[in-house]
Amino acid sequence: MPIEHFRSREACPGCGSPRRRTLYAQPYDQPPISDYLRSFYKRLGDDAFTLLAGVSFTLDQCQDCSLIFQVEIPDNFLLKKLYEEWIDPHQGTTHHVKSFDFTRQYLQETMLFVKLLDKPAPEIRALDFGMGWGHWCKVVQGFGCQVWGYELSQPQIEHARSLGIGVVGWDDIPQGRFDFISTEQVFEHLDEPLKTLQQLRRGLTPQGLLKIATPNGSDIPGKLKCPDWKATKYSHNSLNKVSPLEHLNSFNPRAIMAMAAKVGLEPVRIPLSLHYASLVYWKPWKPMLKNAILPLYRKFHPRGTYFLFRPINT
Ligand SMILES: [Zn+2]
Repeated sequence: MPIEHFRSREACPGCGSPRRRTLYAQPYDQPPISDYLRSFYKRLGDDAFTLLAGVSFTLDQCQDCSLIFQVEIPDNFLLKKLYEEWIDPHQGTTHHVKSFDFTRQYLQETMLFVKLLDKPAPEIRALDFGMGWGHWCKVVQGFGCQVWGYELSQPQIEHARSLGIGVVGWDDIPQGRFDFISTEQVFEHLDEPLKTLQQLRRGLTPQGLLKIATPNGSDIPGKLKCPDWKATKYSHNSLNKVSPLEHLNSFNPRAIMAMAAKVGLEPVRIPLSLHYASLVYWKPWKPMLKNAILPLYRKFHPRGTYFLFRPINT
């Protein structure tokens, strides 16, 4: 029987396969999941466990692409509760803008994709799908590129417009006009990642590039053998990558590659020389070393989940 405010996924949301196995299942309204929700969402309302009663937090893994996904996923009513009430909607308003590390990453990424596209910056049309508070858009705009953002949250849309960032709707995307589409920590939240990627694929120019960056959930099956729901977000045992209600999909490189192939995208190999040509900020020592090693790490360590794709043009 369907449960109000939840929908059951009948197939893998990344590749469409019906072949899956259950890795974990526990009720939402009982420990350890209820305790996790209380500790993670400080603004959780009294109505939360009435809405979650009788629902199982279930994680399945696709036996074809290996994506791990939440089976019962929240409807729009519950998502609005989650993102506008239980999570502070202004969380992160200034965090990214103040964080020098994010700015540096965006600078490097922009230099890289402008070089890869081999076009003058003012001719490049970029889209940030899931733009949040628009910091990525502002950095890319600073390079002279034309920038648009996509977002569901009304306060974030209004904020972007106040910064002079163009806002596109879902139906505006598939017109083949974007040279670069960024999705940064977005796909783990989507109810229909494959359908979303199909839409974004239609938004690319024939030589366009699409970035997918997600947390790497390769270690989740091992952690679920002895799950520690009390582990804090950035600790070794953290299960945040499958956070109930929020991280509906946990990707690994194989799952991302399979999803991309389904919609006609192929990975782009980035020459190491181009990585190094795009590096900025060479001091002090610790960030400098991290900065210098990351391109090598991404090239030789295939477990990362940062990818650039381009359309397979037939
Ligand atoms: Zn799959």
